[in-house]
Amino acid sequence: MIAEIKLLSPYRHHQKTLQNPIHCVGIGLHSGQKVHLSLKPAAVGTGVVFRRTDVTDKNNEIPALYTHVSDTRLNSCISNEEGVSVSTIEHLMAALAGFGITNVIVEVDAPEVPVMDGSAEDYVTLIRCAGIVPQNAPLKAIKILKEVSVTDDKGVSVSLSPAEFGLSIDFMIDFPQSKAIGRQEYSITLSERTFADSVAYARTFGFAQEVEMLQSMGLARGGSLDNAVVVDGDCVLNKEGLRSENEFVVHKTLDAIGDLYQLGMPIIGRFSGIKSGHAHTNQLLRRLIADKTAYEIVDLDAYEESLLSRKYKTA
Ligand SMILES: [Zn+2]
Repeated sequence: MIAEIKLLSPYRHHQKTLQNPIHCVGIGLHSGQKVHLSLKPAAVGTGVVFRRTDVTDKNNEIPALYTHVSDTRLNSCISNEEGVSVSTIEHLMAALAGFGITNVIVEVDAPEVPVMDGSAEDYVTLIRCAGIVPQNAPLKAIKILKEVSVTDDKGVSVSLSPAEFGLSIDFMIDFPQSKAIGRQEYSITLSERTFADSVAYARTFGFAQEVEMLQSMGLARGGSLDNAVVVDGDCVLNKEGLRSENEFVVHKTLDAIGDLYQLGMPIIGRFSGIKSGHAHTNQLLRRLIADKTAYEIVDLDAYEESLLSRKYKTA
């Protein structure tokens, strides 16, 4: 591995994996039970693959791809052909996207990823502690060539449109029924630094009545003020309050980053989300891939080189 790294220039785009395996324990949002999570280095071309170590009698691996998303009502849940599933993957996926981890095996011993504090901060710490290494393989990206969108009659919309470099995200939410949230907007260009410093901290949120209803249905048993911001009317019930005034819209941005990473490669484009959720982003990815004229797969190094030489010529 060391010989391989020496050959790689730090300025090139390579696939990346973790330097060392790393482990943590947390609570499952739905079960309220302990879940063990391990992140393990993986070979070139593996992608992000979840593995259910508690399932031993059938295929227990599920690729973290939009085509495997089976439920988006409360969070992003992925399943394989044998019906083995893992839910609440989006916050971990967002951290993997933020750090550009291409290849990793994510082991859990339960049907859900531990919710930690409802944000991606613990995953950021895990990835940093494990370390990141480039691999001897070029990185491909999906470049958006024309706008693709999904809208509904309630004013919800999501779109992906062309951009020259990287992935930019614009998000808007509007909760007129709660002064604690109200209307919030947020924009960011994704990088390791912007993700870790400005997005990872934002916790998931819900309304007190919803939490009560879910718990009466036997769902969200692990949900508490320790892993979510809970809003009751115009008030935030968490004693410590919010981590920022716009924590709600920043969390929605975090969710979108995680869901978009289910394309299996980074995006060169601009995402816009208006009052949208996991289901809309998944529909958007399906619509994008169904339209072959809306995107192209590029070698990121070659693409950026051609972009720079074109700029240089016109300067
Ligand atoms: Zn979330």
